[in-house]
Amino acid sequence: MAVARLPGMTGTREWVYPQSIQGTFTRLRRWTFLGLHLALFVAPWITIKGHPLVLIDLPHRRVHLMGAIFTPADTIFLVLLLLFLAFSLFFFTAIFGRIWCGYACPQTVFLESWIRPLEQWIEGDRTQRKRRDGVGLSWDKARRKVAKWSVFLAVSLLLGMAMTSLFAGARPLWTGQASLTSYAFVGIFAAFWFVDFTWFREQFCIYLCPYARFQSALTDDETLLISYDVERGEPRGPKRGPDGGCIACRKCVVVCPQGIDIRNGFQLECIQCARCIDACESVMSRFDQPTLVRYSSIAVDDGKPTRPFRPRTMVYGGLLTTLTAAAVVLLVGRVPFEASVNRAPGSLFTVDADGYVRNTYLLKITNKDPSATPVSYRVEVDGLEGAVVTTSALDIAREESATVPLIVRLPAAAADRRTIPFTVRIQSPSAELLLPTTFKTGVHVGAEDE
Ligand code: SF4
Ligand code: SF4
Repeated sequence: MAVARLPGMTGTREWVYPQSIQGTFTRLRRWTFLGLHLALFVAPWITIKGHPLVLIDLPHRRVHLMGAIFTPADTIFLVLLLLFLAFSLFFFTAIFGRIWCGYACPQTVFLESWIRPLEQWIEGDRTQRKRRDGVGLSWDKARRKVAKWSVFLAVSLLLGMAMTSLFAGARPLWTGQASLTSYAFVGIFAAFWFVDFTWFREQFCIYLCPYARFQSALTDDETLLISYDVERGEPRGPKRGPDGGCIACRKCVVVCPQGIDIRNGFQLECIQCARCIDACESVMSRFDQPTLVRYSSIAVDDGKPTRPFRPRTMVYGGLLTTLTAAAVVLLVGRVPFEASVNRAPGSLFTVDADGYVRNTYLLKITNKDPSATPVSYRVEVDGLEGAVVTTSALDIAREESATVPLIVRLPAAAADRRTIPFTVRIQSPSAELLLPTTFKTGVHVGAEDE
């Protein structure tokens, strides 16, 4: 008799039913999982001096981070951050293999923290789930599937809201005051997670994630990888436990969320989650023997040492240090406002009734100081002897911009060249910015006409 299958239960896919496991690495991973949850669910609610701790404000092209405001003029910091993240990935992969996948990747974190426990709660353990999926549709099966998918949908929406909070702000989003676009993004994120949780799961790592493809280029013989101790474990058999060999219990296999057997050697599907270590440890501890699945390297297995300082790690480490130093230097010298000066549309210069030559500019200042009090800016010019500078009062509230006319008048006697370079000096109470520009006169125009 043909068995009625539910969506996602057809085709050639071998469904994975990982058994739950507890142990040293499961406990350790809870701490890194906590880090991602804090970043998503807590950080968007924290404010520093009235600013979000973290907010990527795309409509206003601003990023709020740790109380500072970054604008497109600070793109260098984004470049440094992306380079830092890329080289951190290279660095840690060279030392610990796919530690990102097993300990910090959002897919792993959410599957382990929410989805697998909820699935077990609603549908039972691995054996019950497998048995139920293998038989036809029944009332019990249908109601459990509907309950599970409803809970997964709720979790997906929660994650969609948390992720969009980083872009729209937690308070406006959760109080219904964010834009329609923001809620559309909640829907997009939620749809992604729902499909992933209900169907895609480990296939994402195997077929879509590019990191799995290039990881072999980032590791070497001294990289720590989770592997099976063939020397001690083989030949396997049920009576090998007391002498430390593999008893072929397959516990390391049934807990694997990727559906692989680590005893077959290194496999690209392995996300280095260490569940198989905890599984084998729980088995071998009964025989007072160390686990057969452990962190090791090809070098160690060949009797050679694993060096933390080797050319690859030193190059990545050096680049990370350089990037960090560059970011610190740039941050220390960062001016908490932006300014630009452009010539006002119209004539290059005019000659006033009192003989002064006048140039008019448009001065734009953006206040990026996180302080709640408006900042007063002073404007002076350097390099124009006897110049008279006129501009409006420049008291600008935080995150606001002001564009005002800047009039520079020069006595006729000092206007002795057609183009005179000079500098506009803008001062806030804590910093100053120098903007080079030019002053135009008519002195040589007449001479050239003659
Ligand atoms: S083999 Fe072990 S470390 Fe690799 S994915 Fe499976 S359980 Fe995780
Ligand atoms: S859990 Fe350990 S003893 Fe059991 S099959 Fe895996 S390697 Fe062998």
